Amino acid sequence: MTLKENMQTWDVIIAGGGSAGLAAALTAARGGARTLLIERQSRLGGMGTNALVHTFCGMYHPDTSRPWAWLNPGVSQEVGEHMMERTRQTAPDLMGRVYVLRQHPSLFASIANDLSAAESKLTRLSGAEWCGLKLLNCGWQVELISAGIRQTHETKALIDTTGDATGARWLSRDLWLQADSARLYRPAYICGLPRVIGTHDESWRFALGALIVRGIREKALPESAIGAAFRDSPFAEEMFMTIDLEAGQAQWDPLDPAKRAEVEITGCHTAMRMWTYLRKQHSDFKNCPPPILPAQAGIRESARYIGDFTLTGKSLATCQRYEDDVALAGWPMEMRENARGPKLRFFDRPEPAGIPAGCLKNARTPGLLFAGRCISADHEALASVRVMGTCMATGQAAAIMALKSVS
Ligand SMILES: Cc1cc2nc3c(=O)[nH]c(=O)nc-3n(C[C@H](O)[C@H](O)[C@H](O)COP(=O)(O)OP(=O)(O)OC[C@H]3O[C@@H](n4cnc5c(N)ncnc54)[C@H](O)[C@@H]3O)c2cc1C
Repeated sequence: MTLKENMQTWDVIIAGGGSAGLAAALTAARGGARTLLIERQSRLGGMGTNALVHTFCGMYHPDTSRPWAWLNPGVSQEVGEHMMERTRQTAPDLMGRVYVLRQHPSLFASIANDLSAAESKLTRLSGAEWCGLKLLNCGWQVELISAGIRQTHETKALIDTTGDATGARWLSRDLWLQADSARLYRPAYICGLPRVIGTHDESWRFALGALIVRGIREKALPESAIGAAFRDSPFAEEMFMTIDLEAGQAQWDPLDPAKRAEVEITGCHTAMRMWTYLRKQHSDFKNCPPPILPAQAGIRESARYIGDFTLTGKSLATCQRYEDDVALAGWPMEMRENARGPKLRFFDRPEPAGIPAGCLKNARTPGLLFAGRCISADHEALASVRVMGTCMATGQAAAIMALKSVS
């Protein structure tokens, strides 16, 4: 849908069209609000499309002793069902103690397109950069640049789903926080590898790991290749390779464009060296054409809002529930403070934990909500709530809260 020039005021604006932004936009528009969704990339889906993140986590009830069940009704389930249908999966995979749905980034982009195009109250601006914010008497003024032209929009409610707490960083230093560089969950570079044959079980992975270590020792691969992990796509003979990167450890700053560029360069270089090496050294990769590169590297953690309530690792681990819960978290805390794989902290019981409304708002900024990976959560809790199933649930919850405030 194209933007009409006279439509400069909105009921709800959503900045950022990732998992959380998509869910927020659909929910707001379906609730009858005139809704504008702003996204800097051409595709919706955020990390799940542009960074090629390829499994939906956090969509299911955490009790794997029982048959799988959707955790949060609404957009998360809807997107999951569309993905299952289009990939012909009849059930999620049980991986150890969690249910996971393999997703395909191209299909996620297409599902997001179809769902957003079906909403008459939703206007979507892609390739648009949100670049300014001002508090009005009754709402917010939002600046953006689209096709090189600066635009001003006004809205009663604004939902920040940029993943970087962008609005808070413009408003005030005491509205946001970010972990120390050395602790920030590491970024990663993911690429698609078509035409990889064979069965990829644990022993295959183990042998591949040994081959990569040998390649690094013999200087055929860069040190950064140590962070590589492989996972099957939902389609035959296609894999995804995720390369976790140290990113300078104590120097890493996801908000610094120069540091992000370094990650893109190292990630792309490592991916291409791996492709060359594996084609020569491993028969399953012999016919693999050049990797499908992401539009951007994957960022796991950056700045987050400080809301009325801050979710903690402890509250998740103890499956705490609150009276004003607006969404449920069920994914274990998957901490990735280095490039050598995750450190998992499971909840004490196979039960979900609550995410209360206060994690998505701050009384000091009425009409401004936040969802997705920039909700108010401590570093440990983020390791759970940042997964896409939960991001969709908080996106939806923020839109429901916004609808109440504008009606
Ligand atoms: C390497 C890696 C592996 C992961 N693995 C998994 C996994 O297996 N399963 C899982 O469920 N989750 C996984 N995650 C986590 C998950 O992908 C993200 O946390 C989740 O997608 C965040 O969703 P979001 O909508 O909050 O933010 P994002 O997906 O980051 O979306 C934010 C959107 O806002 C846009 N934006 C930002 N600033 C602006 C601006 N100023 N103007 C306009 N648009 C803007 C961005 O372009 C982006 O599209 C992984 C993440 C990474 C990085």
